[in-house]
Amino acid sequence: MLTTNPFAAADDHDDGDHLHDECGVFGIFGAPDAAALTALGLHALQHRGQEAAGIVAFDGEHYASDRRLGHVADKFTRPDVLDRLQGHAAVGHVRYSTSGDTILRNVQPLYADLAGGGIAIAHNGNLTNAMTLREELVRSGSIFQSTSDSETILHLIATSRRTRVADRFVDALRNVEGAFSITALTNKKLIGVRDPMGIRPLVLGKLGDAWVLASETCALDIIDAEFVRDLDPGEMVIITEDGVQSLKPFGPQKSRFCVFEYIYFARPDSVLEGRSVYQARRRIGEELAMEKSVEADLVIPVPDSGVPAAIGYAAASNIPFELGIIRNHYVGRSFIEPTQEIRNLRVKLKHNANKAMIEGKRVILVDDSIVRGTTSIKIVSMMRDAGAAEVHMRIAAPPTTDPCFYGVDTPEKAKLLASQMSVEDMAKHIGADSLAFISMDGLYRAMGEPGRNDEDPTFCDACFTGEYPSALTDKARAGKAAQLSLLAESA
Ligand code: AMP
Repeated sequence: MLTTNPFAAADDHDDGDHLHDECGVFGIFGAPDAAALTALGLHALQHRGQEAAGIVAFDGEHYASDRRLGHVADKFTRPDVLDRLQGHAAVGHVRYSTSGDTILRNVQPLYADLAGGGIAIAHNGNLTNAMTLREELVRSGSIFQSTSDSETILHLIATSRRTRVADRFVDALRNVEGAFSITALTNKKLIGVRDPMGIRPLVLGKLGDAWVLASETCALDIIDAEFVRDLDPGEMVIITEDGVQSLKPFGPQKSRFCVFEYIYFARPDSVLEGRSVYQARRRIGEELAMEKSVEADLVIPVPDSGVPAAIGYAAASNIPFELGIIRNHYVGRSFIEPTQEIRNLRVKLKHNANKAMIEGKRVILVDDSIVRGTTSIKIVSMMRDAGAAEVHMRIAAPPTTDPCFYGVDTPEKAKLLASQMSVEDMAKHIGADSLAFISMDGLYRAMGEPGRNDEDPTFCDACFTGEYPSALTDKARAGKAAQLSLLAESA
């Protein structure tokens, strides 16, 4: 879900109130401790969103909900909180968000009382026509409670003319564009649904007689649930006391799973779409070493996200792997901070050079991606301060040139370093002796493909290519409005 229009002219999360959208979802049906199990599942998904979490549980008669700012472990392990969330079924959500007074209103799961009963929904992904739909809904009388795009889905469900809840849901989702992996709870059902391209993950699991839905398999592991399968792109599963019913309401579609889930976003111990995230990252490192080799003494990961790729790079290049940077785990991810100044400080708080290993050495630093370049600049200068003889940077992703509109937090295009300069200039900018990125074909090879099929790519790789697999209706409208206002100004 998103907190405001990501396509607006000042699309920039430095202002503290823009596109911040990294979420994880969970759902469970048929377990006496549904809320406690949901809290554990959300804890495993905490890397997908660290600023707020929520759980809605249903006990057969009443819905109880708790939505809070902060980490799952801090809030949802308290007995007084869990005692209030009674029932055999629950859905939950973790999200990354920003400060501002709208924040609690946007925390999910969102809940609504509809004519046929209650519904709670937890959404991962961004809709690319939410603003357009919202304007239409508001014009016809809908009153929105939040600034979240996910609420649009609730209003579309509420205004559907169909009678059965699943039909209303499908009716609603046929109107939306973009990415959604959703868990929803109604009086009698747990529903899971993935957008027709399956951009974001959603898996089905089983725990005794209970059914579980989660963004990633690591959330099944934590509760000892057995992995059953990934939901297919465009699949809706309806879980009731009678079991699981699978529907394909959107017709046949081509899968475009987000390749960045493998590169950075998902947890390395998860298995998504049949691929181990860890192994995919390791293979990217191996490909990178084969493609972009350089003579050096040590391979050093930028922890934590660069670790599996650095292990792969070291193995394929026969250069020793060492922990040349130590990460302080008591700070969040550097990217998720409101201003550049604070982000700068955060990088220092987070990483420190392991001087004893670095002095006099030619080092290869491996990181998963360069976004604004903040991390790379700091880490390279940290290596030089620690006495490195040469610093070579290797990136386990192609250059990030375009923003994500499907649910990964990225700044506007102008803030993406790779959209502003060549790789050579980027190397100078970050102060490295050399800089190289894995090629697009190398990335696809690491995923087990022969290379990128440009006519029909297997993944959504829009952040590296600018080829968005769905319409971007809100962006197109924002662009048109900006053009019109420029015309009006110059008239
Ligand atoms: P930057 O410092 O802006 O170049 O960001 C790159 C660093 O942020 C890398 O070390 C990544 O591990 C991390 N990163 C990349 N994409 C994201 C994201 N969407 N959310 C949070 N962190 C990210």
